[in-house]
Amino acid sequence: METADFRLGKNAPRLGLYLHIPFCARKCFYCDFYSVEQPQLIDRYLAALIRQMEEAAPLCEVYTVDTVFVGGGTPSLLSDGQWEQLFSALSACFSLESDRETTVEVNPDSASPGQLALLRRLGVNRLSIGAQSFDDRLLRSIGRLHDAAQVTATVKAARAAGFDNVNLDLMYALPDQTPQQFYDSLRRAFALEAEHLSAYGLKVEANTPFGRMGDALILPDEDTWAEEYLTLCRLAEEAGLKQYEISNFARPGRASRHNLKYWMLEEYLGLGPAAHSFFRGRRFGFSRDLSAFLAYYETPREQRGSPAALLSECSAITEQDLLLEDVMLALRTARGIDLLRFRERHGKDFEELAGAKLQKYLCAGLMCREDGRIRMTPRGFLVSNAILAELLDQVESE
Ligand code: SF4
Repeated sequence: METADFRLGKNAPRLGLYLHIPFCARKCFYCDFYSVEQPQLIDRYLAALIRQMEEAAPLCEVYTVDTVFVGGGTPSLLSDGQWEQLFSALSACFSLESDRETTVEVNPDSASPGQLALLRRLGVNRLSIGAQSFDDRLLRSIGRLHDAAQVTATVKAARAAGFDNVNLDLMYALPDQTPQQFYDSLRRAFALEAEHLSAYGLKVEANTPFGRMGDALILPDEDTWAEEYLTLCRLAEEAGLKQYEISNFARPGRASRHNLKYWMLEEYLGLGPAAHSFFRGRRFGFSRDLSAFLAYYETPREQRGSPAALLSECSAITEQDLLLEDVMLALRTARGIDLLRFRERHGKDFEELAGAKLQKYLCAGLMCREDGRIRMTPRGFLVSNAILAELLDQVESE
């Protein structure tokens, strides 16, 4: 099968770098991200992660890293010394673009003003704050360790440290959350004038405390979910935050450059357990296994097996994969599919491929065609999984 030539910027390849910090002070009741409650292992982990960075560096020599994202987990559990160690390894291992976007995720209960000032000095220019809600009772009920006052204090400390690009994460469709509580949280988030908002409806994952509650967990019904989502889109727009992806809103010029790489099929390398990559024609992900990661990188290199042993998945990307992923990822964004670019990239016409199925969604107002693009409307985003499944099926069969 033909392997895809996936690089768009062949003359000056750019790379997004994701570093996973798999530690949390305590697991939230809904969370399925990979993290463990063992912050005492952070020193050992950073040494292993830096070894992984050093060993990945030769593969990245041709690239300029233009976005860095340190996520988790809870990166704000790192001490000042650990941050300095991590950033010094970063600049030693990779060629970093001078106007790169560097994002760090922080939690309001562990990000101190001193830490934020240090991050700014280290070149971090985007902060993503896990607010989730401004309702203290609700925050406790989903297992968060912070309260609303700490969210406000963290945003103020970020401004004082010089951050002018701040994201707030919010959640809706939470157990026992009324629509009004969600709108109140939204208004409080807008009042803090964050440049970016990510808002996710709760999806209950099996392997979490919420998942194990089964029917005992009372969740908002589908109509409430839909009403909350559409109100979110409307209020965000009114607050000057333009929707650019199903769950993401930003002031002009403040869309996350790193996250856009995921949706625009640009290359990124994820390091650390559970991190995923789209790199040099392959998609791969490291296992959700901190112990295996530590054991591997704490063994002298000459005594180790192949790093492939750490991978949970790895596959070459074919031209057909690339086309399907392009459809799936581009339709998540508010810009949608650029029809001309699609034809140049894949040598095929998207409207012909999607045929009558596409027409059906256009007529129903769930998708629209304008300025040479096909995109979903906010009502389409609400049922995006069903639309994508049908369109991908159709495109694949052509
Ligand atoms: S702080 Fe974030 S990563 Fe950690 S358990 Fe909570 S939601 Fe998950």
